[in-house]
Amino acid sequence: MTIYNFCAGPAMLPKAVLEKAKTEMLNWNGSGTSVMEVSHRGAPFMSLARESEQNLRHLLAIPNNYKVLFMHGGGRGNFFSVPLNLSKRGTIAQFLNSGMWSDSAIKEAQKYLQVEVVASNIKRNNLIEVPEQTEWEFNSDAAYFHYCSNETVDGIEINWVPQTGDVPLVADMSSNILSKPLDIEKFGIIYAGAQKNIGPSGLSIVIIRDDLLDFQDDKTPSVFSFKEQVKHDSMYNTPPTFSWYLAGLVFEWLIAQGGLENMEKLNKQKSQHLYSCIDGSQFYKNNVHPNNRSRMNVTFDLADERLNDAFLKQANESGLLALKGHRAVGGMRASIYNAMPMEGVEALCSFMRDFERVNA
Ligand code: PMP
Repeated sequence: MTIYNFCAGPAMLPKAVLEKAKTEMLNWNGSGTSVMEVSHRGAPFMSLARESEQNLRHLLAIPNNYKVLFMHGGGRGNFFSVPLNLSKRGTIAQFLNSGMWSDSAIKEAQKYLQVEVVASNIKRNNLIEVPEQTEWEFNSDAAYFHYCSNETVDGIEINWVPQTGDVPLVADMSSNILSKPLDIEKFGIIYAGAQKNIGPSGLSIVIIRDDLLDFQDDKTPSVFSFKEQVKHDSMYNTPPTFSWYLAGLVFEWLIAQGGLENMEKLNKQKSQHLYSCIDGSQFYKNNVHPNNRSRMNVTFDLADERLNDAFLKQANESGLLALKGHRAVGGMRASIYNAMPMEGVEALCSFMRDFERVNA
């Protein structure tokens, strides 16, 4: 039986990447040891670090005036790192609250700066919507403006980029980075925890415009200081070397797949297939406005939630793993990041139709 893992994160990794890591596990780069056992400051790892950064720059077309950091602390590490590193730009941080992860980022930032929330999701005709920028007020004095481009828990994606003028735009892209091409120049800082589209947990990527490196609070811990980490090529302290190595393999895999244009095409096809399967039935329903539906995390409910446990049990027995929605919202969630092949989505749709036939 083929297993498809729909976990929201740590998520499925490309099989080819895991196979490569397997063959290199005991003898990486001819060293006679694994990559986990070599010095991060030695020439072989430094070369891996350089190459992985170059590949990421190539994939996302990152301009030269942006620095790329491989950091500790996952996604949440940036919920405090961003306000600390930008606190000398102003006293106010503005946020769009589009779901659970925005909400968590807001609560953390409130410890350091005065937070203004420009808008929160609305519910119209039983569908959740993210308010358009024309519906909210924007503060040009803010130190920065923060939004989450893909709300992993709520299944919400914002497929437009807020226009923030001279105020640096900060985006939490933990769950949709590398799913499509980006215009990096619209952003001041992009950050992402690794464990969805990048690699294993323990790593986060930060892409920062270099003029934003001079605003850190004096008490910023050095490990989380973007400036300090830039100075040390992300090696102020020992980085999570295995996660970095695996991220490098994922970047190579993405390039071999035809880069982010192709990923976008595949991600559109996969998500459309799954949403049509949900929309074509009275048995399943999705409560996100079509404009805001996530291509990465497809949430859905069974019309009769008493069937939830049976659905999850039988899905699991059919090799379709981790479909349970986040505990905060319940229901189901299928996370279909870059590594999920179309066959996995087809297998899920076919299981859903069979389950409906027997239980409707
Ligand atoms: N932001 C988003 C959008 C996420 O999906 C997550 C994790 N699911 C986080 C932040 C937090 O990441 P971490 O657990 O690595 O701190």
